[in-house]
Amino acid sequence: MTTGDSLQRFIFEHAPIRGEIVHLDATWQAVLDRRVYPPRLRDMLGEMMAAAALLTATLKFDGRLIMQVQGKGPVNLLMVECTSNRTMRAIAQWTGDVPEAPLSELVGDGRLAVTIDPSKGKERYQAIVELEGLSVAEAFENYFAQSEQLETRLWLAADPNQAAGMLLQRLPDRPLTDDEDAWGRAVHLGSTITREELLALPVHEIIHRLYHEEDIRLFSRMPVSFRCSCSRERVESVLRMLGRDEIHSILAEQGTVRVDCEFCGSRYEFDRIDAEQLFASLHSLPAANTRH
Ligand SMILES: [Zn+2]
Repeated sequence: MTTGDSLQRFIFEHAPIRGEIVHLDATWQAVLDRRVYPPRLRDMLGEMMAAAALLTATLKFDGRLIMQVQGKGPVNLLMVECTSNRTMRAIAQWTGDVPEAPLSELVGDGRLAVTIDPSKGKERYQAIVELEGLSVAEAFENYFAQSEQLETRLWLAADPNQAAGMLLQRLPDRPLTDDEDAWGRAVHLGSTITREELLALPVHEIIHRLYHEEDIRLFSRMPVSFRCSCSRERVESVLRMLGRDEIHSILAEQGTVRVDCEFCGSRYEFDRIDAEQLFASLHSLPAANTRH
């Protein structure tokens, strides 16, 4: 049994290499409880959740990291959000059948975008690369090479019960002096892990299985959980963007404006009075708060 829903860092004591291992179970189940996905797509989404948790662990930021794969194929959207507090949500959209085919083919003419939306003050950051690769892991290795310029390897796996992943990253600014081959060896050994082992073994056993001849320091585990970042406030700002006319025509047709969160299923309802307040409060904002 794995320890479940956690992220754990390790470093090689004598080489500039760091690693992360993530296991998601209740977090993954919370996503699967809300929507039934075709098996191939389900596994891709689970792998992408694992990848998002691993990427979040390698970055310093305060806010939300959003990973999006978009294309014109049968799978048109895979989206995972992971906050700096390691709360996650995920969703995928598709049309028709999702066959057992390579990722790039299923998404079709796709792109992979990583956005960091800081909680306050700082600028939004976005990197977009063309989606290349047969698997989610390959697509993200390609992303790291193009966008982060860091040598990174990923191993990902998902099934109906769990999603898991391991990342190895060669750290910059520290040449591999006394042990030139450390990176090659770490990757070679990492590649011997099977999908089943990655899903089933606890972190310390994975480390032992792969790197028992290396000097590894394993850090304490960090919890990961499912949590949707939707809120009435966020829905309100989307409705404001739609504009007063659009909202009035929905009200005229349906009597109330209903918004369902696709990630968690929460329903937000706005009657005529709520809708009026939506726009009334917009006009009462002090001038200093309006953006030009
Ligand atoms: Zn939600």
